[in-house]
Amino acid sequence: AHKILIKDVAKVYGTRQTVDALADVNLTIDDGEFVCIVGPSGCGKSTLLRMVANLHRPTAGSVEIVTERAQPWPTAMVFQDYGIFPWKTVEQNVAFGLRPRGVGRAETRQRVGRWLQQMGLTDFAKVYPASLSGGMRQRVSIARAMAVEPEVLLMDEPFAALDAQLRRVLQEELLAIWQKNARTVVFVTHSLDEAILLGDRVVVMSARPGRIIGEHHVPFPRPRT
Ligand code: ADP
Ligand code: ADP
Repeated sequence: AHKILIKDVAKVYGTRQTVDALADVNLTIDDGEFVCIVGPSGCGKSTLLRMVANLHRPTAGSVEIVTERAQPWPTAMVFQDYGIFPWKTVEQNVAFGLRPRGVGRAETRQRVGRWLQQMGLTDFAKVYPASLSGGMRQRVSIARAMAVEPEVLLMDEPFAALDAQLRRVLQEELLAIWQKNARTVVFVTHSLDEAILLGDRVVVMSARPGRIIGEHHVPFPRPRT
């Protein structure tokens, strides 16, 4: 079990010219929740997500993941622009991140095989990302994130670059993964439609500075396995 604790967080970028990216952000996320953070461009969604990923530090306040498992930082992140390596094959991309986490070769092979299969990528294992469509590349990105077995999956506008039809397909695949794996997902989007469709909890932000202005719990949470 784990919990994400975001307490009184502020983020100021820059030194001479400063940007108040976030102010007074308080949020607690429980194990297994699917939380969508929604708001206009520039309201600090990415900043908040990057702090949960331990990529940015808050200027004030604290961001903490309390967990029982011994893991340096139990998150994995999926970005809008895929963030996969063009010089690595699909399977090398999915395996990336396992070695530094101390996962052995046999276990790596097993996890890569499992996630390639889950994401419909088995036939593309030896292929380079350049020859894949946007949707397939984003599947690689999700497979890579899930292969590290993170407690918290962080997603920053992962489907924003896809056309509407493909977006629906990937959204459904993501929900299936979440239900099957019961992982915590924190999903950033500027689309209220997407937030309501996916989240069992929707956190709404406004800009200048970025603040949480409201929260909505979806009345009929999806079943969990
Ligand atoms: P969102 O993800 O909601 O679009 P961001 O977190 O990217 O918002 O940005 C919040 C604010 O902080 C914006 O005004 C943005 O321009 C600013 N910002 C983001 N990253 C940096 C940075 N590295 N340096 C300076 N300002 C930044
Ligand atoms: P930090 O000091 O928090 O590590 P950086 O200043 O190193 O952040 O910037 C992180 C990333 O954000 C860089 O890739 C940078 O190009 C980008 N960035 C810089 N300024 C802005 C801005 N005003 N809005 C959005 N992104 C920005």
